[in-house]
Amino acid sequence: MAQQEQFDLVIIGSGPGGYVAAVRASQLGLKTAVVEKASRLGGVCLNVGCIPSKALLDSSEYYHLAKERFAEYGIKTGKVSLDLPAMLARKDKVVADLTENVRKLLEGNNIAIFHGTAKVTAPGAVEVKKNRKKPVVLATKNILLATGSEPIEVPGLEFDGKHIVSSTGALSFNTVPKHLGIVGGGYIGLELGSVWNRLGAKVTVIEMLPKIATTLDGQVGRTLERILKRQGLEFKLNTKVAEAKVIRNKVKAVLESGDQTETMSFDRLLVCIGRRPLTKGLGLEALGVETDPRSGQIRVDETYRTSVAGIYAIGDLLPGPMLAHKASAEGTAAVECMAGRAGEVNYDTIPAVVYTWPEVAAVGLTEEQVREKENPYCVGSFPFSGAGRARCMGETDGFAKLISHGKTDRILGVHIIGPRAADMIAECVLAMEFGASSEDISRTIHGHPTFAEALQEAAMSVRKCSIYAS
Ligand SMILES: Cc1cc2nc3c(=O)[nH]c(=O)nc-3n(C[C@H](O)[C@H](O)[C@H](O)COP(=O)(O)OP(=O)(O)OC[C@H]3O[C@@H](n4cnc5c(N)ncnc54)[C@H](O)[C@@H]3O)c2cc1C
Repeated sequence: MAQQEQFDLVIIGSGPGGYVAAVRASQLGLKTAVVEKASRLGGVCLNVGCIPSKALLDSSEYYHLAKERFAEYGIKTGKVSLDLPAMLARKDKVVADLTENVRKLLEGNNIAIFHGTAKVTAPGAVEVKKNRKKPVVLATKNILLATGSEPIEVPGLEFDGKHIVSSTGALSFNTVPKHLGIVGGGYIGLELGSVWNRLGAKVTVIEMLPKIATTLDGQVGRTLERILKRQGLEFKLNTKVAEAKVIRNKVKAVLESGDQTETMSFDRLLVCIGRRPLTKGLGLEALGVETDPRSGQIRVDETYRTSVAGIYAIGDLLPGPMLAHKASAEGTAAVECMAGRAGEVNYDTIPAVVYTWPEVAAVGLTEEQVREKENPYCVGSFPFSGAGRARCMGETDGFAKLISHGKTDRILGVHIIGPRAADMIAECVLAMEFGASSEDISRTIHGHPTFAEALQEAAMSVRKCSIYAS
């Protein structure tokens, strides 16, 4: 085995956790290498997650607007038709450009890139294997595990990559399925369901629990379900898919709800019930790196150190929401801790977004969580139908809802379902970082006409002084 040069830090995985950590490490003067087993950098997020899904969400939304809504705005387009190969090619180009930017970013920061599958053979030694070539061993002071997650496969619903697929398959269907079944009503299923529904598929979402998107504030979740139903998505709640078989190009699925059983036929079945940490083959067991036996998540301390000295972990490998910005924040904090700085992540202010239309965005506690904690609290909300900008755009669905402490007025959570919620939540994250009160937001001057005025009105209505609420 060839012995390679010595590094301060070897990062395994080049997703938003790994590549951001690498750049920060380089800024802090650490000699850094990144190992990536895929041919392209950027991880799940850039290649088969956040970016391709949002590219398709944007394209399909434009298609839907052109086909169904332009007339309302006085625009005549004639017959609108779908060019799916062009839409998919555009998505692929967005991905290719962004992954190439990550390469340039790493190279520009003098970070060594190794393509191959990594295994930690000892603390301070990372073996990298590529095809049948002789493995390379990287010697390093510290190792950062950033290998992310993989989709959970359900027994009886095994992925075949064509008819029964994970989210990766559903980003590249070469035709619009007539009927798409989706197992799991989480945000990935709802986003991809929205894409194919807008492009003409009948979409049925099958969810074992009594509601979709279970982590959302209850009022927001119910509103989202109602709006998506109106858009044409069908929901089968309290229902389990027991098995699915591909027969003559169709997926025959057996659905169980209580003691009722029914069979449904789909052209494609997307199974997205969750993801699990990807630690297979890293050699962690032999090294004694502790993981949670149930979830497979790696146990770390507040500096992201695992149970083995010199080995750190971040991102989807750890407990908490599986989100790109969480992985990046942890990557930055872990490297800062390694370099003797005070790196930290505020887990109370991690925003979460669902990119359906309307969008959903949230930060902090839901009303149900606040109630459970038995905190005294106040709620203010304001509908987008009352915001001038939303009327101009013809996007009046949804509302902004702000929850603050009943005694101190400190903001505990904000939940927005409406146009551009994803961008609007940033103001609320900042407000919570600064320990702001609802009164702070209500007295902050917001531009007119903007969607963010609905947020200001929601904050005002906490103290019953909304100007426009009826
Ligand atoms: C369809 C979909 C949509 C999503 N949309 C969003 C969104 O809108 N917003 C959001 O915040 N999050 C979204 N996510 C989640 C987000 O993609 C993940 O939370 C994020 O990518 C996790 O980052 P990470 O750095 O921990 O790992 P990853 O991005 O998973 O990167 C891990 C990398 O490690 C590599 N690797 C694994 N094992 C090895 C090994 N042994 N050797 C070398 N390399 C290895 C992998 O190839 C991969 O490139 C989405 C996910 C999916 C599936």
